[in-house]
Amino acid sequence: MYQKNVWEGISAQKKQAIFDFNEGYKSFLSAAKTERLAVREAEKLARAAGYKRFDEYKTLKAGDKVYFINREKNIILYLIGKKPVSEGMNILGAHIDSPRLDLKQNPLYESKGLALMDTHYYGGVKKYQYVTLPLALHGVICKKDGTKVEVSVGEKDDEPVLGIGDLLPHLAQEQMKGNAATFIEGEKLDVTVGSIPLDGEEKDAVKANVLKILEEKYGACEEDLMSAEIEVVPAGKARDYGLDRSMVMSYGQDDRVCAYTSLIALLDTPTPEYTACCELVDKEEIGSVGATGAQSVFFENTVAELLNKMGETNYIALKRAMENSKMLSSDVSAALDPLYTSVSDENNCAKINYGVVFNKYTGSRGKSGANDAMPEFIAYLRKILDDDGVYFQTGELGKVDAGGGGTIAYILAKYNMLVIDAGVPVLNMHAPWEVTAKADVYEAYLCYKSFIK
Ligand code: MN
Ligand code: MN
Repeated sequence: MYQKNVWEGISAQKKQAIFDFNEGYKSFLSAAKTERLAVREAEKLARAAGYKRFDEYKTLKAGDKVYFINREKNIILYLIGKKPVSEGMNILGAHIDSPRLDLKQNPLYESKGLALMDTHYYGGVKKYQYVTLPLALHGVICKKDGTKVEVSVGEKDDEPVLGIGDLLPHLAQEQMKGNAATFIEGEKLDVTVGSIPLDGEEKDAVKANVLKILEEKYGACEEDLMSAEIEVVPAGKARDYGLDRSMVMSYGQDDRVCAYTSLIALLDTPTPEYTACCELVDKEEIGSVGATGAQSVFFENTVAELLNKMGETNYIALKRAMENSKMLSSDVSAALDPLYTSVSDENNCAKINYGVVFNKYTGSRGKSGANDAMPEFIAYLRKILDDDGVYFQTGELGKVDAGGGGTIAYILAKYNMLVIDAGVPVLNMHAPWEVTAKADVYEAYLCYKSFIK
């Protein structure tokens, strides 16, 4: 169903299915506010669907459901198919990191009677969007003795929230003359965390009081923050958006929307012909780098481990498994915004409610850095989706030379597998509160299911 509005002529049953599916999606978003938490939620859902850790299996055969977790920040799940893995897999890959602010390694300081924590932003953010919002902290503090404490503040009703200050309009004449890229500078994104001085303390007594709270709550001292990973994210749950409740507003939908829909598509699939895979990676927003990003050899290693447990120890089997695979790089695209139509080419951009969107290429300035998918593969996908009545559209991230973006598509394409970006259109992408349409979320799920079945 190409370029059609999902809601036109929709059955009552399908309408209900769309709304029901999005209840699960909202719960996932509200719980999975960092990549670590997303991995944890994914593991919970996978185990409930019968998936087991790789080390829980002695051998592997068709129908087995197995997953690998990499350093708590990257999870890869496989549903073993009837054909040998070396004949190729159908892979769904999404990223579970989202733009945010990270606490610096030496974050805590006191100034003018307030205690603040210094941050360094992660991914592409419009910095001015992060001021005067309720913010939450999530992460871990790793101690020298090898233990790790979890930090979570700001999500529950009885917990405090944190925030970043901004000038009152009355005194902002100079500030308002600045340009939007710089009038809130990165170094100004410091989070206020306290104002009560510790009794009996003379110097930096407010900071001392915050340290006392950290000691009491987490058994952590100031130096322990050096080996912490604490993310500052918008506080609050995913909500229905619009008077008709047709959309979802939440933090972190790029790309947890495609992560959730890919994951559930896999969990809902019975034993397929070809092995199906869902990989949820970290670090996409900063270039897919690091041990837990898409460029890590972890994915390739897990395929080697699978083959090994199936008695395929020949290196060429691994190479064939990768080269014979097909992949949907499940990532979001920019939706046409009625307030900002000038950045899009209306014939070649994604629209809310028109279903899953295929981006043949992303990139910028002459498709630079793009995967530029094979037309043969696109024809194959059109057939599958038309046969199953899935709503889909094509898009580009903005009109020519308006900007651009990256995904993980080109990374897996290096194995000579067929890859295309396929995901959900998003409004306010990378803002603290992003918006998706429930119909598109559901069609993405149907698309991923059709692809791997
Ligand atoms: Mn993305
Ligand atoms: Mn992004």
